[in-house]
Amino acid sequence: MSTTDTAIASAEAHSAHNYHPLPVVVATADGAWMTDVEGRRYLDMLAGYSALNFGHGNRRLIDAAKAQLERVTLTSRAFHHDRFAEFCTRLAELCGMEMVLPMNTGAEAVETAVKTARKWGYRVKGVPDGMAKIIVAAGNFHGRTTTIVSFSTDQEARADFGPYTPGFEIVPYGDLTALAEAMTENTVAVLIEPIQGEAGVLVPPPGYLAGVREMTRERNVLFIADEVQSGLGRTGRTFACEHEGVVPDMYVLGKALGGGVVPVSAVVSSAAVLGVHRPGEHGSTFGGNPLACAVALEVIAMLRTGEFQQRAAELGDHLHHELGLLAGGGAVEAVRGRGLWAGVDIAPALGTGREISEKLMDRGVLVKDTHGSTIRIAPPLVISKEDLDWGLDQLRGVLAG
Ligand code: PMP
Repeated sequence: MSTTDTAIASAEAHSAHNYHPLPVVVATADGAWMTDVEGRRYLDMLAGYSALNFGHGNRRLIDAAKAQLERVTLTSRAFHHDRFAEFCTRLAELCGMEMVLPMNTGAEAVETAVKTARKWGYRVKGVPDGMAKIIVAAGNFHGRTTTIVSFSTDQEARADFGPYTPGFEIVPYGDLTALAEAMTENTVAVLIEPIQGEAGVLVPPPGYLAGVREMTRERNVLFIADEVQSGLGRTGRTFACEHEGVVPDMYVLGKALGGGVVPVSAVVSSAAVLGVHRPGEHGSTFGGNPLACAVALEVIAMLRTGEFQQRAAELGDHLHHELGLLAGGGAVEAVRGRGLWAGVDIAPALGTGREISEKLMDRGVLVKDTHGSTIRIAPPLVISKEDLDWGLDQLRGVLAG
């Protein structure tokens, strides 16, 4: 057995089979490239589902982490530490908001947003206790906790995990009429992804986000934008909401906030909204820990230069131009996305998304399939144009058979 096969067999024997990874065992990585245990090199066109926006082994992030490792790594929130205020201040500034509630994973931050919206509904809006409704969109992906899968429309993610958490209404994504009809007196929030990532990089129709903003503002309902995957540079702007000139009431952030070095997530909002929490009502041992804050501060500093957003916009134009040419040819049925982020629907006759991904892997490119024959392309924003073009050549090769 090869080193790769041995490692995979051992992983399968000793870990739950809750994922179906491509058969590659990564040993090291640098920039947009990963090297496996047998020395083969792969171009990373997934970037940890957008967690690695700043590339593997990013020097600034590694140095910040190393320096913080030598100082203090964890205090818990029982005590203050000297990176916390700076992290919250800088992150709130980046979002144009006032307060931060830090957590660790995307799902935890979404849970935090849900709990915050409910508490706000009961304490500020005056919704009777137990009656709060949150409107979400079909095709959503917000994480894997019991409450979050309660409002998933993906049967694989949801089946057999009941009983489910009540209090959510699902409406079609991109449909303002359906949203208006779902709005009731007890509605406290609308929770949506400004671009649906896991659904296949679905960009809503123009005017949708602005419509959600207007409708929620008029009805005193919180607009929660889950930018865990779309945010922090990926689409060519800091936030995907910016493409429609929209500022939500609450950002949910994760993934790239920790640069692929540490898990960091956060809910960012106004003092009026996050101010509803009182000591002891919500939290996490690791949320806002010194190591997480040190790395995230470096992420925020990099985003403040605007370089990564600009790179994502420029290379993204190139990516979408090239993919657009493929879309004319029969092998590709549709291409969606913004910036360095694309969902590509391959003609089903050419294989499932999984089969296409495996063929790309054999040619040295790593991507992720979603459902059906769709693959997602989301390389680190530091990828060179040459490497991106090489990756696209491999895709063309696979499509040509
Ligand atoms: N929200 C969105 C939009 C996501 O794409 C994801 C992860 N794919 C999550 C939340 C959950 O993040 P995590 O896996 O860190 O819990």
